[in-house]
Amino acid sequence: MSFENLSIIEPILKALKTEGYTTPTPIQEQSIPIVLQRKDLLGCAQTGTGKTAAFAIPILQLLHEQKTQEQLPGNIHALILTPTRELAIQIDESFAAYGKHTGLKHAVIFGGVSQHQQTNAIRRGVDILIATPGRLLDLVSQKIVQLQHIQLFVLDEADRMLDMGFIHDVKKVITRLPAKRQTLFFSATMPPEIAKLAQTILTNPAKVEV
Ligand code: AMP
Repeated sequence: MSFENLSIIEPILKALKTEGYTTPTPIQEQSIPIVLQRKDLLGCAQTGTGKTAAFAIPILQLLHEQKTQEQLPGNIHALILTPTRELAIQIDESFAAYGKHTGLKHAVIFGGVSQHQQTNAIRRGVDILIATPGRLLDLVSQKIVQLQHIQLFVLDEADRMLDMGFIHDVKKVITRLPAKRQTLFFSATMPPEIAKLAQTILTNPAKVEV
């Protein structure tokens, strides 16, 4: 299996070559076709499995195709919600690496630092936003971030959101998202509360476990 076999477009293939990725990991091999078919996904996977690229690559591809057809009006088309600043930065770096030939813009926001720089990046326009829940809600309530154009939503490390006490904020974010969207839900474990949340926010999800 190769990324070519998964029908990945040239600008992304080129970036993956630069990264030295030759073969998709099992979660990538299973998830990428599902996301490209615009289906919801429930993924049971830990960090270290290649989970980030499993959602970042198809998101970049879907948005790039729309952008080249000029079907991407407005701001913020994909939202990735993750529990920690470290994860948010890592995910942003992954989008930068895999997306460098796509022309898509991304930004990362997290708490504990001044919002000034993050706010400026958003005002310049972004296609993909990576966020921790508290800072996101903060910028939404200030009307700096608008969520109405989001068509792709990733909930990353859902079980850790619960452990860290962010689940209420996560649910609040979800109520603000457009009902018509594609949702990708990742969790290393599925405690009852997380399984229930997955059931509530996903529509006929394909299940992937690694
Ligand atoms: P993640 O599980 O997303 O945190 O990724 C774990 C590590 O695997 C990261 O350092 C990635 O750069 C790397 N990685 C992800 N996918 C591949 C791949 N297909 N080939 C080689 N390395 C990869």
